[in-house]
Amino acid sequence: MDQKQLQLPDCPALPSDLGPYNVEVNEIIEKKVIQNTNLPLGGHSEPENCTALQKIAIVIPFRNRELHLKVWLHNMHPFLQKQQADYGIYVVEQYGELKFNRAKLLNVGYSEAVNEYDYNCFIFTDVDIIPMDHRNLYRCSQNPKHMANSLDKFNFRLRYKTVFGGVVAFSKEQFLKVNGFSNMFWGWGGEDDELYQRVITAGMKIERQSQNISKAKAFLHSRDKGNEQNPKSIRLIKKAAIRMHRDGLNSLNYTIISVTKHRLYTKVTVDIGLPEESID
Ligand code: UDP
Ligand code: MN
Repeated sequence: MDQKQLQLPDCPALPSDLGPYNVEVNEIIEKKVIQNTNLPLGGHSEPENCTALQKIAIVIPFRNRELHLKVWLHNMHPFLQKQQADYGIYVVEQYGELKFNRAKLLNVGYSEAVNEYDYNCFIFTDVDIIPMDHRNLYRCSQNPKHMANSLDKFNFRLRYKTVFGGVVAFSKEQFLKVNGFSNMFWGWGGEDDELYQRVITAGMKIERQSQNISKAKAFLHSRDKGNEQNPKSIRLIKKAAIRMHRDGLNSLNYTIISVTKHRLYTKVTVDIGLPEESID
């Protein structure tokens, strides 16, 4: 604990003056970000006048989505600061051209972030989802929290009851309890449903805020090259309960290509290796 933290009161559990927020998606974004923020390198920020109750690592899986990332950063730094968050942003970029593996990148982001700072809350978010209300608290809760439950592209409705994709929040304890994500989902789809199975198997349930508060913008886009639908995902999801204790954080291996401290985020570029031979 540093000098500053010793002197400051705790931040309130619910900051005041929160309400609907207009996501900005225009052309001048890049300039405004550079002018309006005053962050140290690495995209880490904490409240000035109080000590935040949680230390939050925000982890974004990434490859070749520069524009989405700019828009996300432009909106989310002020958003998180308004919520008086103590947070750091980790953009985890998959190196190479192989099939994209969102879940493994998120495991890498968790591992790199815990090595760097005393984070106790992890928010795993797609780069193309931005909340539309400051009351949508980017915080951890008693249970793992699903936060992308009210997206404009799905008319602010849940597509199915157990949906757990887009944005989720786990305390460190909760994430360790499920052994993180599976590392075995190459290509689009299913890793989020598999994580849901892990949560339930571990005896937890998921939480959501009301759909009014969770409203968020999700940019429309075509399927990325290298992220074609994963034909193995249904089989993998079925065996989540028997695989989860040996497929996840405790079996994670990767090679860091670079860690770069940008002003607005820490970029981790990582070689996550090749898909496994067997699928169970
Ligand atoms: N993603 C990326 N590059 C890719 C594929 C995916 O950066 O080539 C990341 C990005 O954060 C994206 C997330 O993975 O938001 C989920 O992929 P996608 O947006 O295609 O999922 P969907 O919108 O279909 O749920
Ligand atoms: Mn998307």
